[in-house]
Amino acid sequence: MNIILFGPPGAGKGTQSKYLVNKLNAFQISTGDLLREEIKKDSNIGKAIINDMNDGKYVSDEIVNKLIENLVSDPQKKNKLIFDGYPRSLSQAKNLNSLLETSNQKISLILFLNVDKETIIKRIEKRKIIENRSDDKSSTILKRYDTYMKTTQPVLNFYSENPNFKEIDGSLEIDEITRKIDTFINV
Ligand code: AMP
Repeated sequence: MNIILFGPPGAGKGTQSKYLVNKLNAFQISTGDLLREEIKKDSNIGKAIINDMNDGKYVSDEIVNKLIENLVSDPQKKNKLIFDGYPRSLSQAKNLNSLLETSNQKISLILFLNVDKETIIKRIEKRKIIENRSDDKSSTILKRYDTYMKTTQPVLNFYSENPNFKEIDGSLEIDEITRKIDTFINV
């Protein structure tokens, strides 16, 4: 079962992805984590993206698409993919469709964790203290939210037509969200 978790930064995609990875013995594809890893390694990609990422801007589709390519086509991960933070643009959504088609896979569930701006700001402020993420600076939080609203909305519209699209109130407690997700995967 391949699942896309969709929602603004701070909506709980990472937390629920980890739950799904355990539950389904699956693999998380978090483009945010992959990109942060490149920065940590100080690789060429890392050097190219660090300013945009710290500024709350999106990394180019080209770089992100390249990063996930091998993971999606890895036979060991086939039909066990949990997408967290990808796709975030229409071009990425189309790229994902064609990658999945090539490897004879499909998306079984698209979960949209819908959460209001105030809740997100509070959550990210908390995470900033716990995880000390450089892109969680207060000045970056609002930019990340606004970038999400502007760029990711068309992707949301694109997926909301899909019969496997499910919207969940992301302002609920973690356990409540998990319970709702369970109702969609325990079929
Ligand atoms: P996240 O951990 O998913 O909130 O992502 C953190 C940051 O990484 C974002 O604010 C973007 O700068 C970058 N990023 C993560 N995923 C993508 C993506 N699919 N496309 C473009 N940029 C991304």
